[in-house]
Amino acid sequence: AAKSSQRGSIRFYSHDLTARARERMEFRNSLRAAMTNKEFCVYLQPKIRLSDGKMMGAEALVRWQHPTRGLITPDHFIPVAEELGLISAIDMQVLSILCRYLEVWQPHLVPEQRFAVNLSALQFNHEDLVQTISDTLQQNRCGTEHLELEITEGVLLVHCEHLANKILQLKQMGFTLALDDFGTGYSSLNYLSRYPIDVLKIDRSFITDMNTSRSSQVLVKTIVSMARNLNMKVVAEGVEDEQQSALLQSYDVELAQGYLFSKPIPIEQFAQCYNLPEIIND
Ligand code: C2E
Ligand code: MG
Ligand code: MG
Ligand code: MG
Repeated sequence: AAKSSQRGSIRFYSHDLTARARERMEFRNSLRAAMTNKEFCVYLQPKIRLSDGKMMGAEALVRWQHPTRGLITPDHFIPVAEELGLISAIDMQVLSILCRYLEVWQPHLVPEQRFAVNLSALQFNHEDLVQTISDTLQQNRCGTEHLELEITEGVLLVHCEHLANKILQLKQMGFTLALDDFGTGYSSLNYLSRYPIDVLKIDRSFITDMNTSRSSQVLVKTIVSMARNLNMKVVAEGVEDEQQSALLQSYDVELAQGYLFSKPIPIEQFAQCYNLPEIIND
């Protein structure tokens, strides 16, 4: 315990700091090790077509199977991974795993089904982003026709030619491009006409608020009609109850994701659930 003297308190405080610093360092080291030990796994959350309840693809969400702490969700390690420069490797590992499944799922999919991965905003600072993605596809003999890339609004905020080129190249490779967490970022909508975005994913916060807020309903309706006029599709994120689902259907929202339909589940379980082939040896 801390001594009452000034000196003692200071010593106690610095000891406490050291413990936290050590824990942080251990967390960082275990994150680095997780790469080589293949501790990341892919969960999929289905995207559901509201008109008939069919699964029209899914979003890949990374999880970290930590040797002692159990399953860790991305919010707890993505920021650290970004800081350590590990995020690109993690995103490519997720894409790789998804590609391996898509190769065997391919014959069972309908053309409109899309499987999405999230790209960290930081990746767009890398000169070799497009090359890295195309290498990953090639290593797994995977085409882009069922693949979607989710990027966040923040990426598009600062317009520059490098960014525009990267996005255009990804589009030309055949990826579907989705804007994640739409509506939470920035007030200027200029970028929507500047980039070849195919899908707007309406942020969960709007969907949650629809039940109690008339103005959130108006906002969602407005986003939907704007998307339609710009020839974009809409996915509603975080649909948790029937009331939200019914409202979205009345606005002609095509696709929805959320706990009402399914939580994210391990990719093997997703395969079983939707009668898709499983990969036996890994
Ligand atoms: P996101 O891309 O917006 O993903 C949606 C998040 O909402 C997921 O959290 C998902 O589990 C959660 N969610 C889905 N439906 C519901 C619902 O009905 N209710 C509630 N309360 N939550 C719902 P998760 O898996 O914890 O991921 C959090 C964020 O981490 C993601 O947000 C994404 O930005 C990031 N992330 C996840 N996987 C990756 C990845 O492989 N690479 C990168 N760079 N980021 C990732
Ligand atoms: Mg996402
Ligand atoms: Mg989102
Ligand atoms: Mg999010």
